[in-house]
Amino acid sequence: MPLLWLLSWQAQAVVDISSSPLAINPAPQVAVLEDETAQLAIEQILEPAEPLPWQQLQQEVPNFGFTHSAWWLRLELANDSAAPLRRLLELASPLPDFIDAYAVDAEGRVVQQWSTGSRRPFATRPVRHHAFVLPVLVGANETRQVYVRMASHDGLVPATPLRLMDDVRFLERTQSELMSYSVLYGGLLALLLYNLLTFLATREKAFLHSVFYLGAFLLFNLSLRGFGYQFLWPEWPRFNQQILLLSAGLLYVALTLFSLDYLTLKRQAPRLAKGLVVLTGLLVLSILPSLADRFAWTLRALVPLSIGYALLLLGTAAWLSFQGDRLARIFLLGWGGLLAGGALYALRLGGFVPYGLATEYALEAGAGFGFLLMAFGLACKINRLKRAKLDAERETYELQRTLNHQLETQVLQRTQELEQANRKLAAMVRTDPLTGLLNRRQFETLINEEIQRRHRDGKPLLFAMMDVDDFKLFNDTYGHQAGDEVLVEVAALLKAHFRRAGDRLFRLGGEEFGILLEADSFEAGRFALERFRHSLQQLQIPHQASQHGVVTGSFGLVCCSDYDQLPAAMAVYRHADQAMYEAKQISRNRVVARSVMAEV
Ligand code: GH3
Ligand code: MG
Ligand code: MG
Repeated sequence: MPLLWLLSWQAQAVVDISSSPLAINPAPQVAVLEDETAQLAIEQILEPAEPLPWQQLQQEVPNFGFTHSAWWLRLELANDSAAPLRRLLELASPLPDFIDAYAVDAEGRVVQQWSTGSRRPFATRPVRHHAFVLPVLVGANETRQVYVRMASHDGLVPATPLRLMDDVRFLERTQSELMSYSVLYGGLLALLLYNLLTFLATREKAFLHSVFYLGAFLLFNLSLRGFGYQFLWPEWPRFNQQILLLSAGLLYVALTLFSLDYLTLKRQAPRLAKGLVVLTGLLVLSILPSLADRFAWTLRALVPLSIGYALLLLGTAAWLSFQGDRLARIFLLGWGGLLAGGALYALRLGGFVPYGLATEYALEAGAGFGFLLMAFGLACKINRLKRAKLDAERETYELQRTLNHQLETQVLQRTQELEQANRKLAAMVRTDPLTGLLNRRQFETLINEEIQRRHRDGKPLLFAMMDVDDFKLFNDTYGHQAGDEVLVEVAALLKAHFRRAGDRLFRLGGEEFGILLEADSFEAGRFALERFRHSLQQLQIPHQASQHGVVTGSFGLVCCSDYDQLPAAMAVYRHADQAMYEAKQISRNRVVARSVMAEV
């Protein structure tokens, strides 16, 4: 039974390459040998001192993981046709460090040999391709044993899918592959430039973060898929090693910045934000060894940290979505797509899910979907910011309006108060505070005007002076306060008596008053003044020290009906004063009247 199985495997182990079309995964026909010493050369493989423990490859995709061994793959190709054939063996990962391959003929001679790998210059590749393509020539009716030795610099031999194709299939495959990547890279580049320009136009940080994020992903994918080495930095094998994980680190930093801003995490979930920042720091730290060529160390730390990071970010987005944040929902969907794509890619590499277009480009499809949703999310974010700004503007406007209104009301009120105060002040300037009569200054200001008016109206000028009698004695007897009260009473009596529109009453100083009378004649004025004198006496304000026993006044009245004969205003005043002096001389409590004319 074991022999039969061995025979059947041996029979299976030869790949007939003359059938066409040919595009297969030759893994079932591949034998594998682990060289733990990593010292065996092709000669010792071909002519071993003792049988080597070759085994059938049990995986669909050779995947040796963390290992310091060298791994040998063996594949036998048979050309049953009458023409020589060329077949291409693709090691479909750009990542293996060292690849040494040999084609050996039936006699055991090495007829073709390649020495390449991602740690060797790009020029060592037999076909200029982002992965490794070995063109194997097989003569008519001949066989070839193809040996591929894969070894690592620091202990990691990554998963490397195998493909065996004829030229035509390879050409077709390469075209569709390049088309797919062109769409992806073109799309990402367009999105990146668009977001960059939008950032320059809007200065909105989320756009700048998305530019970093897209740039880092672009760099990471170019490096992961080998296109960067092929097209951008073929002369720099060392940089090619470092840029893969460096761009992964950048991607994490950019994603963290983007997420913090896009989801406003610092405000919405400060603890989760802190956790995310700490994890990002650890991720960046874990990448440092790779700069010193310690990739295995980096990857050992990077995998669990990445899982933790993804779970935290997804969890946060899920929680915010649950709270009803629409932006978080878009984020969750996009991130979910990206993560699902990445997981599917990893599962395919690990051999858990079969080959297929869907699994082949799962990472890129997920990323493309994620980035598109991100662009949509950004648009939503900008909308939200715009709305918030509009709301704020409206609020400011309303506030300003209210303030303006308040200010206007206040200004109006102050203006009214000011006007009132002004009016009071003006009145105060014109009138005597004790009696409320016009003051002496007003007398000097108005006298000429009043004379003119009377002249115009065809009325005589009648001006009287009045002086309270023995007022010094009154003050001495009853006190200054009582004296003031008498002055107020006299003024009130004056106001009560002289109420015509043209009557003007002045307090000219002390206990002296001036009266500009409106009367039709000298006699009428004299009569009015007599009446007043009598009324004052009738007030019966006691004044012991006076000869009349009550408060009385003396009056000097002057009259002028011929305005051509009218002397200057001050002369009129002097005449009135003299007339009053005469009244005092005679007996007090009396009116002395006279007519005046210009002094010649
Ligand atoms: P005559 O009859 O000759 O006018 O005597 P008189 O005492 O009234 O005259 P005199 O001019 O000598 O005195 C005026 C007095 O009036 C002096 C002052 O005590 C008093 N007096 C002047 N102004 C005021 C005032 O505003 N209030 C009070 N209470 N007394 C005043
Ligand atoms: Mg006096
Ligand atoms: Mg007096």
